[in-house]
Amino acid sequence: MLPKVIELLGRKASGAQFGTLAREEFSWLFLPGRHIALIGARRADMLLSRTKLVAALFAILTPLWGIVDYRFLPEALAKDLLLGRALATLAFVSILAFYNTPAGLVRNSRLALLLLFSVPSFFFLYSTVILAPHALSGIAAALAATHAFLPFLVLAGLSIFPLTVLEAALLALPILVAKAGASLLFWPTVDWPLALGTLWLLLLIGAVATLASVSQLAFIIALVRNAIRDPLTGAFSRQGGSELLALQFNQSVRNGTPLAVAFIDLDEFKRINDDHGHEAGDRALVAAVQQMTRQLRTGDILARWGGEEFVIIMPSTAAAKAAVALERTRAAGFGERPEGGPLTACIGIAERSADQVDDWSMLVDLADARMYEAKQSGRNRIVTRPAA
Ligand code: GH3
Ligand code: MG
Ligand code: MG
Repeated sequence: MLPKVIELLGRKASGAQFGTLAREEFSWLFLPGRHIALIGARRADMLLSRTKLVAALFAILTPLWGIVDYRFLPEALAKDLLLGRALATLAFVSILAFYNTPAGLVRNSRLALLLLFSVPSFFFLYSTVILAPHALSGIAAALAATHAFLPFLVLAGLSIFPLTVLEAALLALPILVAKAGASLLFWPTVDWPLALGTLWLLLLIGAVATLASVSQLAFIIALVRNAIRDPLTGAFSRQGGSELLALQFNQSVRNGTPLAVAFIDLDEFKRINDDHGHEAGDRALVAAVQQMTRQLRTGDILARWGGEEFVIIMPSTAAAKAAVALERTRAAGFGERPEGGPLTACIGIAERSADQVDDWSMLVDLADARMYEAKQSGRNRIVTRPAA
């Protein structure tokens, strides 16, 4: 009941943009880890490039601001602050140096992001401790006061990144803890109403920034979904299928697991269009996809490669197993032809390790060539690798 109310409120509050997300996609806005691979990979690229942009900016600004410190603060104080600035700069530079490749690794981009948000939290705590004993006035006091605004800057910075609610909350945590810690550290002298008011304002700014990050994520999900799905059949598009196959191929090489690909071309499809019209052809395509989807295992990926041609990606599946699964698919058929009788297809199968292919597109080409062999030898059949 409660989650439903929250979902409804969320949809109402967020307007048309979130409204375009499906129910399952909506849940991706709250928790990370559920995003399908492509959204994850694109988001990871975005997170990492923005993290590095911000890290580069602060790697320059943090030491530069030291000049201002030296100009307006007592020298001993400026010196102490410089140590903090040097450490923070080092951390920003190491984000730039260590988080390069491989892009697309979600975990990597999250670690870089966590580091990015932790550095100012440490610097804030450090500068608060350093500045506390000094009674400053004039410009020096104003300069010292700007340090107190750091947590606001950090939380507002969340809005630059496309994040889930959980991620935004976790990234906000270091600076909130640092702010609370700074208050506790100066327990006897703290102006409590002011400290609590500040914390409340911080939470509000954090919440608004989180809304901005989540709406970015919603936008990415909607864009990626439209780019990777075929609107007629709902199968993956060629674009989406290629990207998923590229990901699966790399994973299969890394883990030494097999990866099978089947190329499927419906038999004598043009005749359906010629005899019964294009609409009948479209209906037959939709029915064929439904029929194939029923036979797939979870983890298998079906993509519409071209007009009446499909590719099925079968991760962790050896050639022999793939042949068995596709024989089952072939036997179950691809639906009915409008004039009666079964709609059949030719299928070519290739497998990464058995066929010794070292490029994902060659895997598809090989399966395509075997599909063509199946056409040549009489249709409604499967061709796999010839036995050695
Ligand atoms: P074969 O058994 O040799 O594969 O014969 P075929 O007629 O299936 O092969 P061909 O490649 O010559 O023709 C494919 C036809 O698929 C051509 C086109 O009319 C039809 N087609 C391609 N895309 C669509 C589509 O989106 N909708 C419809 N209705 N037909 C399509
Ligand atoms: Mg064809
Ligand atoms: Mg055909």
